[in-house]
Amino acid sequence: MAESRKTRVRFAPSPTGPLHIGGVRTALYNYLYAKQHNGTFVLRIEDTDSNRFVPGAEEYIIEALRWCGITPDEGVENGKIVEEASSRHPYGPYRQSQRRAIYRRYAEQLIENGYAYYAFDTPEELAARRAEAESKGETFIYNQESRKTLRNSLTLGKEECARLLETTTGWTIRFKMPENEVVKMDDLIRGHIEVNTDTLDDKVLWKRSDELPTYHLANIVDDHLMEITEVIRGEEWLPSLPLHYMLYKAFGWQDTQPRFAHLSLLLKPSGQGKLSKRDGDKLGFPVFPLRWVSPEGEVTRGYREDGYFPEAFINMLAFLGWNPGDEREILSLKELSEAFSLERVIKSGARFNPEKAKWYNKEYLRMKSDEELAEAYMPILKEQGVDSTPEYAARAISVIKDRASFVADFWTAAPYLFVAPSEYVAKDVAKFWVPEACGPLEKVRALIADYSGEMEPAAIAGAIEGYIKQNEWPIGKVMNCLRLALTGSASGLGIAEIIYTIGTAEAAARVDKAFSVLNQ
Ligand code: GLU
Repeated sequence: MAESRKTRVRFAPSPTGPLHIGGVRTALYNYLYAKQHNGTFVLRIEDTDSNRFVPGAEEYIIEALRWCGITPDEGVENGKIVEEASSRHPYGPYRQSQRRAIYRRYAEQLIENGYAYYAFDTPEELAARRAEAESKGETFIYNQESRKTLRNSLTLGKEECARLLETTTGWTIRFKMPENEVVKMDDLIRGHIEVNTDTLDDKVLWKRSDELPTYHLANIVDDHLMEITEVIRGEEWLPSLPLHYMLYKAFGWQDTQPRFAHLSLLLKPSGQGKLSKRDGDKLGFPVFPLRWVSPEGEVTRGYREDGYFPEAFINMLAFLGWNPGDEREILSLKELSEAFSLERVIKSGARFNPEKAKWYNKEYLRMKSDEELAEAYMPILKEQGVDSTPEYAARAISVIKDRASFVADFWTAAPYLFVAPSEYVAKDVAKFWVPEACGPLEKVRALIADYSGEMEPAAIAGAIEGYIKQNEWPIGKVMNCLRLALTGSASGLGIAEIIYTIGTAEAAARVDKAFSVLNQ
């Protein structure tokens, strides 16, 4: 088997739309596996189904992987799919539509060796057979029984076949599934599986109409030619595994056949059913890594645009169906690749939890320096029309960081760290702007204006509170009144933190402004 070979894994998406987070998780597990085994992570674009091709999807896939930091070692160069073989990308091209010449040869080889046959049935003939079966309450399957009664190279004479191959373009090459054979398979996650070939149909491998292979043929041929050692992919491909085993056998490639690992599905937060592409809109969280604008102009939100850090997103995804077997929950990409193992991937579906995604982001936000966060905050401030500096933004972040899950929260939670309030919440004014608080506030304003102590929240708080207590003023009332003057409402950050950020002069000016506006 494949053990002694150098590890080579691949992520092989079809460019049929944006990559769902389940697809990103598949790519991530392949990446982690490759890194752990000092192997190569290949990106291959499986675009042989031209009917399902969506413009922009390939670029989206590359950009999504780049944002996540799970960059392919092979198949992509300068943000583009490699179209020719080279020393760094020896197995190119990496887009299947550019490898079409290869597949026909292999399909013909199967025919020569008796593992496949030509099928000439027209769509109308097959539709008639389907209708006939349905009328009897049965389902039509192109298989070892029905193929004996259909128009193919097994039932027609040699000359007739040659004529049809020459003169028609609707024919296909189908796999000739052997009768009553038990396919014995091993999955690295699911263990041993056996399937009898009598339950399997004769899948189309190649189509004359577009001279393209189907997924099954192209996938097996490419995994072989690209020397893939492990195939790690979604559970939806498990039903195809017996055919894939049969194809390896038919080609005589069992010795280098990759090992397989089928990942469980991602489930809806309720645990009921598969997490679908539409769930994000319905349930209010993104199911795509990046924003996607469909060719029809429909916009779908993404984790990146919603303000998630790629490290948090990746960490969260890694834990959907896997864990390191200890208490750790926060792991970098490097730590993940050290800890990862397919043996610890769960067999059952992994329930997606949008709250956990937010929790991860909050944790990563807390680990970042104020300076780094300030850099991410500057564009938001600019958008809000605020003229600030990264140094000031970092200072503001230091007092608000613990309350935020996203960089955008810095603004929504405390715009008053950047702009003086222009309005005051009426119900707070009614409740807190009262004479017994306003009197002392004038004195407190003077204390703040003259403050020359340490510019640290704790010291500022000590000075103000000590002064109020010493004068036996009602501390709660005075503080609320002060907060109203500083922020425009009675809720928000601690007073000392606000003053520490905006400075004593600005704080005193805001108190003056409140007096002039509210005492009119
Ligand atoms: N092209 C398939 C997909 O879109 C790849 C399946 C596989 O990895 O074998 O998921």
